[in-house]
Amino acid sequence: MSEPTLESHGAVPVIECLGVSAGYDGIRVLRHVSFRITEPAIYVVLGPNGAGKTTLMRTLSGILEPYEGTIRIDGETIDRSSGGGRVHYLSHVDGIPDGLRVREALNFYALVERAGPSDVERVLDLLEIRPLADRYVSQLSSGQRKRVSIARVFLRERAIYLLDEPTSNLDPKVASEIRTLVLNLSRERVVLYSSHNLYEAREIGRYVMTIRDGQLALFGRIEDLRSSHFVVGIRTLEPSDAMAGFPKQGEYYLKELPGPEAVPDLLRTLESQGVRIRELREMGNPLEELFADAPEVLART
Ligand code: ADP
Repeated sequence: MSEPTLESHGAVPVIECLGVSAGYDGIRVLRHVSFRITEPAIYVVLGPNGAGKTTLMRTLSGILEPYEGTIRIDGETIDRSSGGGRVHYLSHVDGIPDGLRVREALNFYALVERAGPSDVERVLDLLEIRPLADRYVSQLSSGQRKRVSIARVFLRERAIYLLDEPTSNLDPKVASEIRTLVLNLSRERVVLYSSHNLYEAREIGRYVMTIRDGQLALFGRIEDLRSSHFVVGIRTLEPSDAMAGFPKQGEYYLKELPGPEAVPDLLRTLESQGVRIRELREMGNPLEELFADAPEVLART
């Protein structure tokens, strides 16, 4: 596959992933992945479960050494010793100790990250978690915990932030808040954000890279992949009168919207009508067709 290159618009790091194959115990999961990033933006790494998204994140962060190929940031090859300095990786498993208060946990991570107490205060405001500073981690909701784990990531300025499924297992409202937060934090930064959620990719990403069977299937601007009609399918937890007027396709109620920006309003309206949403997905998008035989690529918000 030729190596896609993106235009530069000012502040960089240049990130190059050149012919990278990587995996576990000698078994390849990623195969010949190549791309080049030169523009700060959110890059959604999209693919079904098991496609290799986490493996790509681990390899880019230097945790996994590639079997072949090279990862370079601003020309410097990334390996286990250098990865941590340039890249911050937020695993989907948060691992924040329950027995600490939020500020204590962040102070501990600040030590590990060689950040200072003023950075802890900065991220408390940045992630809007100052009111939680004296609460025990064990007392937080899953959305609050996620904010704390993202706060950890932003303790230090990095060239590149890797966020592995930051909205997985969150309810739609909290997931939407986290996306807004990441969008605000990502200005002038390179953020790779993995997801198996097409709707999410369209909402926050400027670029998308799709991983399929360990290979880079597609890399480009999301706006180029948009179809003219934006139709979402809504699956509810139980039947609801409020959905009676919607056409149906299988288990999905269909609704045409002007664009993905209209989804939060739709969610709010349905929520106010007492509809309990199990899943919302975009129907008939070219990206979705890419995963046509991978039914788990449904947009769970
Ligand atoms: P995704 O993040 O897209 O869901 P992963 O990168 O986690 O995919 O997994 C890709 C493949 O690598 C899967 O087949 C998975 O079973 C395998 N895999 C992931 N982690 C390990 C590991 N620590 N040891 C062995 N195989 C793994």
